[in-house]
Amino acid sequence: MKILFTAVPQWYPASPYLAAALLVGQLKGRGFDAESYDFNIEFFNDILNKDYAKKSLEDAKEFLSSAEFACDASFSDDINEKRKKTFEIRKRIVGDYIKFDGEKAERTIEKIDWAMSVIKTKELFFDPEKLYEAKDIINSALDMASLPYVPSRIMIDNFIANPVMTYDFADVDYQCKNADMNMFLPYFEQKLGEKDFSVYSLINISITDLSQIVPGLTLARLLKEKTDAKICLGGNYIYKIAPDLKKIPEIFSEYCDFFIVGDGEIASVELAEYMCGKRNIGDVHSLVYADENGNVITNKTAPLLDMDNIYYPDFDCLDFGKYLAPEPVLPVQFGKGCYWSKCTFCDFYTGQQKFDMKSVSRAVDEVEFLVNKYGFKHFNFVDEAVPPAFYNAFATELIKRNLKIYYSSFVRLEKAFTADVLQNMYNSGARYMMWGYESESPRIMELMNKGIDLSERKRILADSAKAGIWNVVTFLLGFPTETDEELQSTIDVIYDSTIVDTCVPSNFALKKNAILKSKTDSVDITEFHENGELHISYKYSSLSSTMEEVKARRNRFEKKFLEDTADRLWPHTFTEGDYLMFYLTRYGKDYVKNYRLKYKKDIPKY
Ligand code: SF4
Repeated sequence: MKILFTAVPQWYPASPYLAAALLVGQLKGRGFDAESYDFNIEFFNDILNKDYAKKSLEDAKEFLSSAEFACDASFSDDINEKRKKTFEIRKRIVGDYIKFDGEKAERTIEKIDWAMSVIKTKELFFDPEKLYEAKDIINSALDMASLPYVPSRIMIDNFIANPVMTYDFADVDYQCKNADMNMFLPYFEQKLGEKDFSVYSLINISITDLSQIVPGLTLARLLKEKTDAKICLGGNYIYKIAPDLKKIPEIFSEYCDFFIVGDGEIASVELAEYMCGKRNIGDVHSLVYADENGNVITNKTAPLLDMDNIYYPDFDCLDFGKYLAPEPVLPVQFGKGCYWSKCTFCDFYTGQQKFDMKSVSRAVDEVEFLVNKYGFKHFNFVDEAVPPAFYNAFATELIKRNLKIYYSSFVRLEKAFTADVLQNMYNSGARYMMWGYESESPRIMELMNKGIDLSERKRILADSAKAGIWNVVTFLLGFPTETDEELQSTIDVIYDSTIVDTCVPSNFALKKNAILKSKTDSVDITEFHENGELHISYKYSSLSSTMEEVKARRNRFEKKFLEDTADRLWPHTFTEGDYLMFYLTRYGKDYVKNYRLKYKKDIPKY
């Protein structure tokens, strides 16, 4: 029996995906024939080339010259209304593009193959002028690939599904079945013709983000229809929407056979055992499925993992040359959950039963194993937050074993990150750390319940900078009740380049699984309601500002910041951490910080 684990678009395509590798590792460790296939990286390679760019432009022109909208009686009035609206928006956007961006399109067609070679080839990648031009060409090629499907939009760091459609199941279901609003449907149909998926008895699809829900369900439905394999959904996003997913009968009749809620290390192995006849389905932990009468059954949650005794991730099946980087940065996870888990706005830690970590020696063993097996030396430690004491001991152990690696991680601004600890981490290979600063306002920080000593924040960032670590700092703008003055005080910190090397600003969103949902009165949220049953955030109304105002204020800030820092390398990013790390390890922090681009970056339109 062969088992497949797949990653689906859209996910940042510079490095492999941990979930599939981790679960393949668990299955192979127990003697199962398991492998992974990265649909995401296939997708980006298949659409980022000259032929695809040309075809997208031709398809868009053909749409413009021939299309007349026609209602389809087989769809509801609501869907027909949304189809019509989509059609009108598409006419306008494609019309404008053909009229104003013809030259840009020609240049993109001419240079996209060159741009991909810059991203993947060391000699070209490490020329910042070429790299930044290549990144703009790739973004432009993705805009062209989106043209026949606008207002849906594929980007290197996101997929925005058609905003005319909601995340209600009816709208997602329509998109999964109709190519007029879904670029992934024809793509997956073609891909299923190229690779033989009939050899698998069980296909697991991991969905960890909103950007993967339409593509992931599109693929699940096609595989269920066209193969005999059992289809299982999993991933953090599935955990977050599980209560709603269980209420949708079509999920089990058309899209999958099972889904796993929470961590998959135990459940995936038990599901494979069930498939081999070695276990009853009722004994597969954390599994949700429909019985023969259509009743949805939720099995018991899996027991806690023994973190030191799970198998190492297995990246064997992946073609590393396909990733959009000169070499991959391998993801490693040291534990489960966040040791704080109390920030009122956050839902990152949901899906994990309990905070738990591997021992330091086991964590270093794993990194050493991956270095020896795959030969790469850059790592991204993907935990939500790793305690300072762990990192100090981890750094000491890396140095003791003379293991030469470079790494990055999320960390909290804890005062235990002393100058000595940060220097120890730098000496062991820490090159950039992602710190959650959120807001300068003590009042807003109290409402967020971030649980850190505010008087230490700037000291920690300064010590980190002094040690040689690049500070990537996240900020949450537009928290309900935030005043203009409070926002400005946060923006002043963002502009302080002595402590912030890269900023990652994001908008406040009211998450379904966040603590704040049950405390909305405290932040003047007067009402909130579903944004679609498959969405993880609510729409909300607040006495202080509307969701649109929050977005507009952030966009205003971001546009100005990008213009003010247009000649700098990575003043603002989240997803390009891998590129940043390669530059830091090749050239050092001072070079990256002081380099000024001659190439004029494309500033996104807001
Ligand atoms: S925001 Fe970070 S520190 Fe706070 S609960 Fe979430 S993961 Fe933990």
